[in-house]
Amino acid sequence: MFKKILIANRGEIALRVVRAAREMGIATVAVHSTADSDAMHVRMADESICIGPPPSPKSYLSIPAIVSACEITGAEAIHPGYGFLSENARFVEILEEMNIAFIGPSSEHIRLMGDKITAKDTMKMLGVPCVPGSEGGVPDLDTARELGEQIGYPVIVKATAGGGGRGMKVAHDALEMESAFRTARAEAKAAFGNDEVYIEKYLTTPRHIEVQVFGDGRGTAVHLAERDCSLQRRHQKVLEEAPGPSITPAERARIGKICSDAMAKLGYSGAGTVEFLYENGQFYFIEMNTRLQVEHPVTEAIMGVDLVREQIRIAAGLKMSFKQEDLVPRGHAIEVRINAERLPDFAPSPGKITHFHTPGGLGVRMDSALYDGYSIPPNYDSLIAKLIVHGRDRPEALARLDRALGELIVDGVHTTVPLFDALLRDPDIQAGNYNIHWLEQWLADHAKAE
Ligand code: ADP
Repeated sequence: MFKKILIANRGEIALRVVRAAREMGIATVAVHSTADSDAMHVRMADESICIGPPPSPKSYLSIPAIVSACEITGAEAIHPGYGFLSENARFVEILEEMNIAFIGPSSEHIRLMGDKITAKDTMKMLGVPCVPGSEGGVPDLDTARELGEQIGYPVIVKATAGGGGRGMKVAHDALEMESAFRTARAEAKAAFGNDEVYIEKYLTTPRHIEVQVFGDGRGTAVHLAERDCSLQRRHQKVLEEAPGPSITPAERARIGKICSDAMAKLGYSGAGTVEFLYENGQFYFIEMNTRLQVEHPVTEAIMGVDLVREQIRIAAGLKMSFKQEDLVPRGHAIEVRINAERLPDFAPSPGKITHFHTPGGLGVRMDSALYDGYSIPPNYDSLIAKLIVHGRDRPEALARLDRALGELIVDGVHTTVPLFDALLRDPDIQAGNYNIHWLEQWLADHAKAE
């Protein structure tokens, strides 16, 4: 087992990795920008090292800075968390060359899934059902128009290098195709430096269902059931739950096996998420994330396993500590993403936390790097806390979430907590009756009402 690992991330996820490492008796190295000298992950790790100025390209995204930090501290492995360098195949190649272990899949698998067109082709070949759409990239507007007619409107134009909900545009009819195609391409070019786009059928009432998978890199893989992440704003997840309220045990077993078989055939190593849209009883693959997800704690809650511990074990060459038959979901878990943002327009609200109190009690987990007196820097993502609750069933989890939100105090900045207070009172949320468009509609209705 590793003696020391470096965490190439910040915030709650860096803290999350420190926690797993400490339970395993592994020393940790935190890296930080000058904006994060006082951050909690720096305080909690055994060692810390400054890797650059506040802008992430010069610190958390700087491969030379992170590799040097590893050399200086003698860390044997790097955990990338999510975001930043977690899905950067070049970074992983460099680590492979330098004999530093990457706590994640191989650079080859990251590259394969990082390009969404290649990912879809691969998954199709492995027997995973996909959204109907173009075969590969769409070179020009004429081809895009032809495809629109063939697939049938509405369609969505998506960046093959896409991520974070960027580079996606919907065309409801032939007239809208021109602007959708051009805008998606321009956005893709600006955000990812790659303007290749593809076209898919735009599903109008799907849920976002994703399957957690785990492989040992030697041809064995399991699934850990699904999460429903349909509650989204601007294609970004806001609340996640497991198991999916609309998925039956038979469907879970079927789609789970399709995914674990595909991962076994690939020889996939570590944690991954296979994302689907789910409509009228059909699953349609959209993309695979080759890393730990923000919402992994809901899976940990229902499965009773530590996914980060397992990631570290696999990277160190150990066997998986669970088999498929051990993985039986228990109860229901819900996570809400609490952002430092001012409602109703979700404007970032960085600043000093004057008072912070975390909820507790049975079935409550708070993953956050906040503390009394901490100043949230304006340079990074606005996620400040994830509140995860677990109950024997969905109604119990909902009641527990309501109770826990009532105990939470975050003074000094605006947060998205009032959004969750309001959502919990909505009959559709209570009934689990929502799809990927539900929240946008709800927000529009509430904006009008105010
Ligand atoms: P990203 O990598 O940017 O997160 P995804 O491919 O995972 O992009 O899609 C993000 C979200 O966009 C999905 O959860 C869904 O809400 C929406 N979306 C993507 N593809 C489609 C589609 N074909 N039809 C309808 N909605 C879609």
